[in-house]
Amino acid sequence: MNCNDCKNDMHELFDESADKSLIASLKNHIEDCQSCSAEFDEMQNVLTTLHPEIEINAPLLLKQNIFNDLGKNNINVKEGKVKHMQFSPFIKRVMAVAAVIMAIAISIFFFDKKDTSGNTAKAASSFFENSILANDLVKNMIIKFSVRTEPNDNFELIGTEYNMVEHTIIKSFDKPEKWRVEKPGRIVLFDGNNQYLWIPEIKEAVKGPKNAGFIDWMKILLDPSSILWKEEAEAKSNSSKITMKESKGKLYVTITSKAQGNFLNDYMKNKSINESDNRREYVFDNKTKLLKGLKIYLLDKKKETLILNIENIDYDVAIDPSVFAITLPAGVEWKELGMAVTNENFSNITSKRAAELIFAAMARNDFDSNKEVWEQFNFITKKIIESKYGGLQVIKIGESFKSGNYPGEFIPYEIKLKDGTIRRGKLALRNDNSNKVWMVDGGL
Ligand SMILES: [Zn+2]
Repeated sequence: MNCNDCKNDMHELFDESADKSLIASLKNHIEDCQSCSAEFDEMQNVLTTLHPEIEINAPLLLKQNIFNDLGKNNINVKEGKVKHMQFSPFIKRVMAVAAVIMAIAISIFFFDKKDTSGNTAKAASSFFENSILANDLVKNMIIKFSVRTEPNDNFELIGTEYNMVEHTIIKSFDKPEKWRVEKPGRIVLFDGNNQYLWIPEIKEAVKGPKNAGFIDWMKILLDPSSILWKEEAEAKSNSSKITMKESKGKLYVTITSKAQGNFLNDYMKNKSINESDNRREYVFDNKTKLLKGLKIYLLDKKKETLILNIENIDYDVAIDPSVFAITLPAGVEWKELGMAVTNENFSNITSKRAAELIFAAMARNDFDSNKEVWEQFNFITKKIIESKYGGLQVIKIGESFKSGNYPGEFIPYEIKLKDGTIRRGKLALRNDNSNKVWMVDGGL
């Protein structure tokens, strides 16, 4: 074996399944060659730094892909180039080996550093080899869980002040996949083509596209087999901490995250799972890889509050196909979620100016001149708003602000209703539509 071959194949020494005779000739060469021995030490040092205690069993396919790429890089290595050019393939090889390790050992940097047993990594790698298969075996599932929220409000809303509200997720994995998420005052359904939102109390029936945002964080529960991948990606981008422990046939995965978003103004803080400091405790069956439980705690000033709790998950039970359709009462029709509004009075202005115009219009009982602003509200809701806010008197309108992940802006207001009540609140306006028209989104 010559030096070039040795350096090109050196990474095989870190691969337990590498060809035995190749390993033997690599070792022989390194023992006799100072230059290769030095490079081997350096590679080992780099890898040890990256990856202190964890033992890796790479899934075969992943390993092949990465090593094939490595092979391609090495075709470009030619002897006789200047020194720094010779060094670069070495860095590439180290990075490639490191990439394999990082891909397998998921977020080793986030793992509990005190776990010197290697159990975490073993649990992780065996989980990944098998979790991909789990979904193929499951035909459907029903998740029963409770969330501290308002029964009628959106599915994202949480708050320590609310009672636990029962929720149900029904999912069919047969193609096309279908699902239904339900709480007492609200249902969101996906029939394989469209999402539907139904709020019985105000007879709001909205039909949206496949990717409509009627539910957000909860989507992760619709595909239990990809929870870990998604949580890992989330952890990497937000420096959350992940720990995994295997015990008595169960895999315990805990993620501790910080609230995401801009909290210069903390109005939205702790109003959704993503916008709160929280700890998510998942339990998986280590053999079937199926999700068995989840508890989410909101962490606020050293106080923990259980905010979401999965009480039961049934896999492969009989599901009546009629759950994937909603029959509307007579006289109610699905309204298409249309965001292509045009209104030049409400584009190209600030949200504060838009709020001033909106309150001024309500003061003179005018809900029709700029009806696009109210596009998100149906007939019934609009009637309620008209009767309550028509003829109001503006006391004060404050400076707009953004908070958390909310795409729009909040405008603080103080008004006097026609019955004399003083009302303070924050009008939520958003203009994330194609013509940037400010539309009322909530806060009344
Ligand atoms: Zn050599």
